[in-house]
Amino acid sequence: MSHPVEAEAFLKDKATSKWHDETLWFVRDKRDKVSKTVPEWEELRELASQIKDNVLSQLEVYLEAFEKNAVANGIQVHWAKDAQEHNEIVLEILKNKKCEAIVKSKSILTEECHLNPFLEKNGIEVVDTDLGERIVQFLNQPPSHIVLPAIHLKKGQISDIFHEKLQTEKGNDDPTYLTQAARVHLRGKFLGAKVAVTGVNFGVAETGEFVVCTNEGNADMGVHLADVHIACMGIEKIIPKREHLGVFLRLLARSATGQSITNYNSHFRSPAVGKEIHLILVDNGRTAQLGREKFRNSLKCIRCGACMNTCPIYRRSGGFSYKSTVPGPIGSILSPGIDLQKHSSLPFASTLCGSCTDVCPVKINIHEQLYEWRQEITKSQSALNGKSIAMKIANGIFSVPFAYHISGAMMRGALKILPESVTYSGLNTWGKGRDLPELPKESFRNWYEKNRK
Ligand code: SF4
Repeated sequence: MSHPVEAEAFLKDKATSKWHDETLWFVRDKRDKVSKTVPEWEELRELASQIKDNVLSQLEVYLEAFEKNAVANGIQVHWAKDAQEHNEIVLEILKNKKCEAIVKSKSILTEECHLNPFLEKNGIEVVDTDLGERIVQFLNQPPSHIVLPAIHLKKGQISDIFHEKLQTEKGNDDPTYLTQAARVHLRGKFLGAKVAVTGVNFGVAETGEFVVCTNEGNADMGVHLADVHIACMGIEKIIPKREHLGVFLRLLARSATGQSITNYNSHFRSPAVGKEIHLILVDNGRTAQLGREKFRNSLKCIRCGACMNTCPIYRRSGGFSYKSTVPGPIGSILSPGIDLQKHSSLPFASTLCGSCTDVCPVKINIHEQLYEWRQEITKSQSALNGKSIAMKIANGIFSVPFAYHISGAMMRGALKILPESVTYSGLNTWGKGRDLPELPKESFRNWYEKNRK
């Protein structure tokens, strides 16, 4: 896939891309304002970063302690080395329970494992119960953002989808009306489901409990009505102690949506009488990423989405342009680790302005890791491409003062007479959507020689 090609498709609709940019900036702005109400904000970020450093330095120790405590609490723990194993474990549990329909709350991990299509292929109905996720599920689309899955859709479009799928009044795009309709629709699904699937935000090693954060309470509704709870957790979600939750929960909600706290932070420690909890611990490339010294910090991510909301490229190119479960700056570090060839254009989808690093609540050096990936990718590409040829020519010109002087004079002359069809041809990708600057009459060198006194 090519990010520039995908982004170009999104940018064709100028009104939508402008609205997308402004909407996400609004969320970023909310995050800024609410973070400034916490005087110890920077201390919290530092603390969170250090806790995660500690976790990553002895992940296997914390995972074993977590498993031991969870099992002692009555939770059935499963290990999955990759997406396929994860999906098969879920299916096996469903088959044992003779379950043909599940309700599922938001889980980026299950998106990463493509659980929905796998289960549907095996005859299981999957109902995503997060409102945004249900909307994109109606369209057969993946989420375009990890916190705001339907952020690419306007309320008029959602009204049309609900009219078709839920028989709401045509043209009624009142958010309260539409939310009520979704509520009634989902209530029936909750009542009929024997198994509920959730993600996991934090697994606490010292107690064997795990925490699921939602704003809609849909995870709780599903889990409390079903007989079986399947929780899917990436192995990097471990924190050592319960007291550390105070650090992460304060950072997560503020960084994600500008709220002071997520509405529901639910702790699951042991199954209720007559019920079951299955916890699936999933690697799926995380151990490999842990072994990559330069990129291991990316495993600190708590999936708040703040780096996406602030990124000038994500805001203007849309989540689908990354063709990856986790889009935006952090996705551009994680995805090449999974499939370098497919995602080799992603680390270049950044201005390297560092805004992502500045907002990250766990202080991941995102822009530096993107730069590292660029170097790795460039080194791994032996064949010459347009950019590497251009760089070699530029290198030749810039390293010989006479060549630089002459080529500058030639370009100034040529640009005055060449027609726009040439200066803004397909070769000038920079010129798409931007005007070339006004040409100076002479070079800076000439100007300096005349004016130095
Ligand atoms: S990298 Fe940082 S800012 Fe981006 S989603 Fe993860 S925790 Fe949030």
